[in-house]
Order: sequence, then C-alpha cells, then structure tokens
Amino acid sequence: MENSGGAKATLACISCGKLNRIDLSLVSRLPKCGSCGSPIHLDKPASLDDRTMEKVVTGTDVPVLVDFYADWCGPCKSMAPQIEEMARAHSGRAVIAKLDTDRSPQMAGRFGIRGIPTLIVFSRGREVGREVGAVPRPTLEALLQKAHGNAS
Ligand code: ZN
Repeated sequence: MENSGGAKATLACISCGKLNRIDLSLVSRLPKCGSCGSPIHLDKPASLDDRTMEKVVTGTDVPVLVDFYADWCGPCKSMAPQIEEMARAHSGRAVIAKLDTDRSPQMAGRFGIRGIPTLIVFSRGREVGREVGAVPRPTLEALLQKAHGNAS
C-alpha cells in the first residue's frame, strides 16, 4: 500500500483560526498550530467555514470529504458519529471536514447545497463525487474512494 509521505494538508486551528500547512507523514507526532501551539487533531473532523473552505480544499494533497450540515438537522446529527469514525479511520490519508451551512451560506450557495446533509468529496480542489441525504458508512467509504481512484 502506498504511503502518503510528503503529502500536506491545509487546516485551520480550532483555537486561533490560523491556517496551517501540515505534513501528513508526521501525523503520529500530533502537529501543533504554528501560531498558538494548540494541537491540530487529524483524527477528528475539521471545521470549515466561508473563510477557510476553499483554502483547505485546494491546499490539501489528500482527498477531502466535506459534510455540509446544520445544527437543527436530525439526519445530520444521526450521521455525526460516522463522520467522526471516518476521521479516525482515514487520519493522515484523507481530511474529513464539516461545514455548517447556516454559518457559511456563501459556500453552501456556491456548491448548490439544497438538501442536508450533503457530502462532497474533493480531490485537489475538484469535486469528484457527492451524496445527498444521510448515508451508511459503506457509502461514505465508496464516496471517498472516488477521490483515491482519481489521485494518480
Ligand atoms: Zn492556533
């Protein structure tokens, strides 16, 4: 199996919001924010918003799976544990992220989000697949796989 050595991800620090370039080959050494020193957890879903989404999606060498959700959405809540599991399972090999469509209407509009949850997988900034509605874990895996198939 190919290692993603040298691959980098761009992720916002959850404490100070600064965008960091993370070397994914160092994932086991718990990367820290270059600005405030807070740990950046690659095994948890990353939070995206109108300011950071484009930079994260285009600045990350590995596939990025984005869960477009809202706090009031029941099916989104029921999917949340699976999104967390995906982040743990693909730590360092993919970025699993969430975007609150109420707080980030610009991105929701740009990607034509009409129903939530909507899951979109990006490969080097380009959309390579999407699913609308709550889907089971195998469907999430298949969706992410589309980006891996596209990477080479
Ligand atoms: Zn920080």
